[in-house]
Amino acid sequence: MMQRPLRKDRSSKDRSLVIALLASLAAVVMPLELVAGLQAGQQSGGPGALALQEAAPAEWLSYGRDQAETHYSPLDQINSDNVDRLGLAWSWEIPKTGARLETTPLVSDGVMYATGAHSFVFALDARTGEKIWQWDPGIPDERNGGPSVCCGDVNRGLAIYENHVFAGLLDGRLVALNKETGLVEWVQQTTPPGQDYSITGAPRIAAGNVIIGNGGAEYGIRGFVTAYDTETGRQAWRTYTVPGNPADGFESEAMRVAAETWFGEWWVVGGGGSAWDTFAFDAEANLVYVGTGNGAPWSRDIRSPGGGDNLYLSSILALNADDGELVWYYQTTPGDDWDYTATQPMMLLDLTIDGRERKVIVQAPKNGFFFVIDRLTGEFISGEAYADDVTWASGIDQATGRPIETPEARYGMNRQGAYLSPGPTGAHNWRPMSWNPTTGLVYLPVQNTQSYYEMVTDFRYTLGQWNTGTTIRGGGGPRPDRPELTGPRTLLSARDPATNTEVWRVPSEGAGAGNGGTMSTGGNLVFRGSGNQLIVHDATTGAVLWQTEIGGGTATPMTYSLDGVQYVSIAGGSTREGPRMWTFVLDGTAERPGGN
Ligand code: CA
Repeated sequence: MMQRPLRKDRSSKDRSLVIALLASLAAVVMPLELVAGLQAGQQSGGPGALALQEAAPAEWLSYGRDQAETHYSPLDQINSDNVDRLGLAWSWEIPKTGARLETTPLVSDGVMYATGAHSFVFALDARTGEKIWQWDPGIPDERNGGPSVCCGDVNRGLAIYENHVFAGLLDGRLVALNKETGLVEWVQQTTPPGQDYSITGAPRIAAGNVIIGNGGAEYGIRGFVTAYDTETGRQAWRTYTVPGNPADGFESEAMRVAAETWFGEWWVVGGGGSAWDTFAFDAEANLVYVGTGNGAPWSRDIRSPGGGDNLYLSSILALNADDGELVWYYQTTPGDDWDYTATQPMMLLDLTIDGRERKVIVQAPKNGFFFVIDRLTGEFISGEAYADDVTWASGIDQATGRPIETPEARYGMNRQGAYLSPGPTGAHNWRPMSWNPTTGLVYLPVQNTQSYYEMVTDFRYTLGQWNTGTTIRGGGGPRPDRPELTGPRTLLSARDPATNTEVWRVPSEGAGAGNGGTMSTGGNLVFRGSGNQLIVHDATTGAVLWQTEIGGGTATPMTYSLDGVQYVSIAGGSTREGPRMWTFVLDGTAERPGGN
């Protein structure tokens, strides 16, 4: 039997020595809490690999709270019996305005770490909201020479490991900040300068490395994911998501295989496949999961004349955490033509499906189908429509796991523009879904969208410009009447992933009509941002139990506990209202900003 490669995680090795030593003393002199604290990494310079894997219940140490990305906390002090007693504990105005708030805060050792627009990073006392430090990398707007960004100067959050806080910056840098002081420890430019790359996603930790992707496929880039040593910032590995020019040689067998599914000179624009948001880590399998983005240009007939699946666009990739080598892939949208990324949040679940215990990965990518895939082998288990309006494909073929495309879907090949659902914003975008192991439900923010897709006939690649090869930004021939959407604009959908069916839904209404991310808790609650509201639902029935206004453009809630008190935090508030971090607690009596 092959020996499992050692994880490069010096500190956790050191720590396990310390723990072994302490354990031998513990019976005599060490209070058990202190030993537990050391195991969780709290007394020795912040959370290490073990703490991340065990996901300390009182804390929120990574983007999805755990490395399975469930956005679930077992905390239950706030529950369906008392949630109507929620009140404001504190709020803090984020001194940096921009497009939108998309951050999910982290909490470690009583400190909250989060981000605002323009890669602004801050640390607050999680009990009081008082600022501990803040760091502004000073990245200019696009019109002042800053990086090209398709979709705003946003940032979704941070990673923590030992005594470091990691942030991916809009200009492609990855930075390690000291957890206590916010001072810069190391910086890596992760993307080729002068090209149209950007970073908006949260880094993740896997096997002692910090993992970061990037965006830019609307402009034209070649996607890749890079792992850096958390201590030194030295590159550990880089894995491309699409092949480069074959004349330059392939970086791996995976790239050689992928190149057989492309035609023409795709490398000129770059091909796309940017991994701009989702990752997950299975420490037991030692696999890092990466969701890849759309094709660049969008239109396959320009990108890859002659067709092809164009691996590994719009795919879930399982990579060996030690060297980044591709172990398996599953392509959710073969031959992407529609900006149907598979960068939407994924989670790792252990489910009983048809009487069998399965280790699965689930994802609701932009294309409107909810996928359940074996996370060890990549085997397709199920794929069902989760949105009302899905017109590009009629379903997923159970035998092949491939979408059954409708005749009008290939607007480029047909030389005929078409209204299709979903549109490029997807039936689900960056907003996290969450899981509750007690209800067995996934809480998914769904949107019904459509767009007119038409291929341009005079495509020319221009650096610094959108290069989608479509008329999405105007032009083209006369359009037919826009068909009506059949479903609500946005909704919260509770889905049983074992049967891949919707159990209940709550359409969003009024001021809460937009979707934010969701978080679920052991209190049988689902918290979600929606429009300008934080809304709390009963996790079993979907009933709205409590809501409060927090300002337009809500991000994703999270929760933590300090001194026996459970808090719930969420960022919300537009540039006009002032972006703000809001924190609620039972019987909270803090005055709302503006004084009401
Ligand atoms: Ca895109």
